[in-house]
Amino acid sequence: MTATYRAIEVSKGGKFSEVQKPLVDPGSNQVRIRVEACGVCHSDAATVEGLFPIDWPRVPGHEVVGRIDALGPGVQGWTVGQRVGVGFLGGSCGYCELCRSGDLVNCRNQEYTGVQHDGGYSEVMIARASGLVMIPDDLSSAAAAPLLCAGLTTFNALRNSPAKAGDLVAVVGIGGLGHLAVQYARQMGFEVAAIGRGGDSADLARKLGAHHYIDSAASDPAAALRALGGARVILVTASGGNTVAATFTGLRPGGASINLGVGPEPIEVTSTDLVFGNRRLEGSLTGTPATGDATLRFSSLTGVAAMIETVPLEEAAAAYAKMMAGRARFRIVLLMNSGAGQDAHRQ
Ligand SMILES: [Zn+2]
Ligand SMILES: [Zn+2]
Repeated sequence: MTATYRAIEVSKGGKFSEVQKPLVDPGSNQVRIRVEACGVCHSDAATVEGLFPIDWPRVPGHEVVGRIDALGPGVQGWTVGQRVGVGFLGGSCGYCELCRSGDLVNCRNQEYTGVQHDGGYSEVMIARASGLVMIPDDLSSAAAAPLLCAGLTTFNALRNSPAKAGDLVAVVGIGGLGHLAVQYARQMGFEVAAIGRGGDSADLARKLGAHHYIDSAASDPAAALRALGGARVILVTASGGNTVAATFTGLRPGGASINLGVGPEPIEVTSTDLVFGNRRLEGSLTGTPATGDATLRFSSLTGVAAMIETVPLEEAAAAYAKMMAGRARFRIVLLMNSGAGQDAHRQ
């Protein structure tokens, strides 16, 4: 084991640089991970562009898969050599009021991976044991990485939604999150309508399992959903308040519009559309570690997989720029060494 490791740091102003960092031991209730793969997520912009207060420099990355190589004092339930995942939520504290009531996602003492502490654009990462996710043996590290944020976020929202088997569920946006959401919705037994801008995504949406494709540039997506009987759930994976508003009246009575995208644009819906029909407008933030385990197991059992392209760690800056330009199809995964992710990842 070398005493230093390579990492990609971002400094103020969004400048990427490759650095050597000294290997440190994990602190209490933490593990040290030899990272094998890390997905590049749109939320990495929160780090690179300093949307949160950042103590620069910072290593981004919150779709991390690797093997535990050291346990800090007090860690129970995890072993050295075990392959684990780390998502956006850095691990709950276990003692705050929200943890004590079972709401681990909204723990008041939870840090965000790659924001308040260094993330996975790195050969080594220190993580809180309470945030770790189990990785099924039959998923390569590269295939598993995007499931830890894009996968967990969409799986969790659908799994906790009011939709039942056979209900109409709409997925808005066929990108990094949306292309997984369509697959999960299909495998959960829903009638699936995918909504994208333009006709280009129609074939892909059907291939991913959508029963219907609605081109929001060519027709009113809310009217199209009403023509199908109205959606029990509309899962909005694209950011932008207007996108949420444009589909909202496509909900059937009792339906819920669940917003996963984040942005400053307000969502304008009328109280009439909320009240008459008891419709709900809500947000959903990723999920608990146990739901992370379920996301990966479900993906392994059903064959749901992210479409990925892999690049070596040193190309992180270019990969990030490509993702931000909307040119990733659909997830870029950084690989830390030759070997990880080489076994067939299903696409
Ligand atoms: Zn993410
Ligand atoms: Zn807590």
